[in-house]
Formats: sequence, C-alpha cells, structure tokens
Amino acid sequence: MKLFRRPFEIIQEHAVRDMPYECCGLLAGKRNVDHRGNIENVVYEIAPCNNCLYYGKEHGFEISHQEYLAVEREAESMGFVIVGSYHSHIGSPAVPSRHDIDFAKPGHSMLIISLLNSEPKAVTAWFRRESGGFHQEQIRVVE
Ligand SMILES: [Zn+2]
Repeated sequence: MKLFRRPFEIIQEHAVRDMPYECCGLLAGKRNVDHRGNIENVVYEIAPCNNCLYYGKEHGFEISHQEYLAVEREAESMGFVIVGSYHSHIGSPAVPSRHDIDFAKPGHSMLIISLLNSEPKAVTAWFRRESGGFHQEQIRVVE
C-alpha cells in the first residue's frame, strides 16, 4: 500500500491519543491495478472512527456500520473508495487477530500500529485477497 506522510503521522497521533484503548479508522483512496493484476491501494485520506466496542476496547475494535457507510459516502463524493482500515494494538505485536482478519474486506488493506510504553513501535500492513487469503504487504510512505 502507498500512504502519504501526513495521514501516516495522523494515524500515529490518533493511536497515542486513544491510549489505553485501541484506535481505529478507515482509509480512503484509489485501488491501482497493474497489467499483471496486482493491486496496490493508495491512501489519500484517512477517517478516524469511534471504537464502538462496549467491552474490551483495550484488545479489540469495532467500527459501526453507520459510521462505515457515512465515511464511504464522503469518500465517494471526493472520487475515492474505501481501500482499507487502520487500528492500534496496545502492548502486543502488529499482527492481525482472528477478529481483524474477519473485519478486513476483500481487496482492502489493513494497517496495524503497535504501541509499546505509549510509543509507536511497529507498523505493518496486511492485504485481504479476493480469494480470501491474507498476506503482509509493504507500506510505501511518500511525501
Ligand atoms: Zn487488531
């Protein structure tokens, strides 16, 4: 996935601000497909969302269906689509949980930022294939 520097910084700020709970948000942009059919999601805008889990926000997140649809509408009005989501892990590695895998929609990228002692420690991205698989992908941060 490709991500501009400023949104990348905003995600990190959001993650620190929402401590000790997991933060979450949606990524809006464009889906680029090369001649070999490889997909690269390009993130232009991010939408910080409310972690609407009632219990267990320290170890999980949920974005409400209403908020998802509202962000999707706004993205479409700017000519973008939702290309994925981001959330934080508090004191655990930036590796998707089973719930994370279920949340990711096919064709979407999932960015996970792991915090240790209130500091961003690691950031990873994961791509959900149309076939249902999930693999780690590179994050290209551009100016
Ligand atoms: Zn997670």
